[in-house]
Amino acid sequence: MKSLAIIGAGIAGITLARQLQDITEVHIFEKSRGFGGRMATRQNGPYRFDHGAQFFTARSKQFQSLINDYVAKNQIAAWQPRVLTLDTQEKPFKREWFEPHYVAVPGMNNLCKVLAQELNVILETRVANIEAGEKGWLLKDSAGERLGQFDWVISTSPAPQADEILPECFAYKSKLSDVAFSPCFSLMLGFESTPKLNFDAAVVRNSVLGWIALNSSKQGRPPFFSLVVHSDNEWALSLIHI
Ligand SMILES: Cc1cc2nc3c(=O)[nH]c(=O)nc-3n(C[C@H](O)[C@H](O)[C@H](O)COP(=O)(O)OP(=O)(O)OC[C@H]3O[C@@H](n4cnc5c(N)ncnc54)[C@H](O)[C@@H]3O)c2cc1C
Repeated sequence: MKSLAIIGAGIAGITLARQLQDITEVHIFEKSRGFGGRMATRQNGPYRFDHGAQFFTARSKQFQSLINDYVAKNQIAAWQPRVLTLDTQEKPFKREWFEPHYVAVPGMNNLCKVLAQELNVILETRVANIEAGEKGWLLKDSAGERLGQFDWVISTSPAPQADEILPECFAYKSKLSDVAFSPCFSLMLGFESTPKLNFDAAVVRNSVLGWIALNSSKQGRPPFFSLVVHSDNEWALSLIHI
């Protein structure tokens, strides 16, 4: 059987590994301590925050049927927050969501963890170098140690990080630096008290903020009042360019 190294245990790497595991021997390398990548969850004291992806929808039959199994096991739940649009120049108005919005339980990162249960994932291992070996692609970690030789390598890391490690012979190498990113700052607030809010999630307009979520309103989270606030992308971009 041919061997495949996947770089990254986010949703792309895990999904890909599940699709290919029957036809190839898959090894996933992940530099972080845990799964999920930008489907990130952080615990601080009694508070838990999904500071990356907030929710997801299921728009294909195939994905919906995959989700149904995990919904039955309470590892995924439909989130039904009270949603508002807050606008610094207009009155707030209520938003309706016309399709289920799902969250992983007990945190967004758990989706990748449960999807990866049968997979060979090597955590805390940063792929730092990829070079042509005698029998395929030779991967090395940050200390220069060999991680193995593989017939194929797929990187799911964001373009700037992929640019650092993919070899010059990669046909699209020069395109990687052209990929534009929308930056986002994430503020995580844990409250000792329970402030009264008339929403659980809000899209914010005409502000430096873009999104506010009462994380503790999602299923399976600790009951302690925790807010995740995302910056407006345009504002964050202007700040980074200063
Ligand atoms: C603030 C924010 C909010 C978002 N909100 C939503 C939302 O509400 N709904 C939604 O559907 N999407 C949302 N998204 C987008 C969604 O999170 C991403 O599209 C998705 O998680 C990307 O998954 P990925 O597997 O492609 O990449 P990533 O999740 O980035 O995974 C790449 C992985 O590769 C690892 N890695 C990188 N380089 C190396 C290396 N050299 N060696 C080993 N490992 C490496 C990283 O640690 C990471 O775990 C949001 C994103 C952000 C940042």
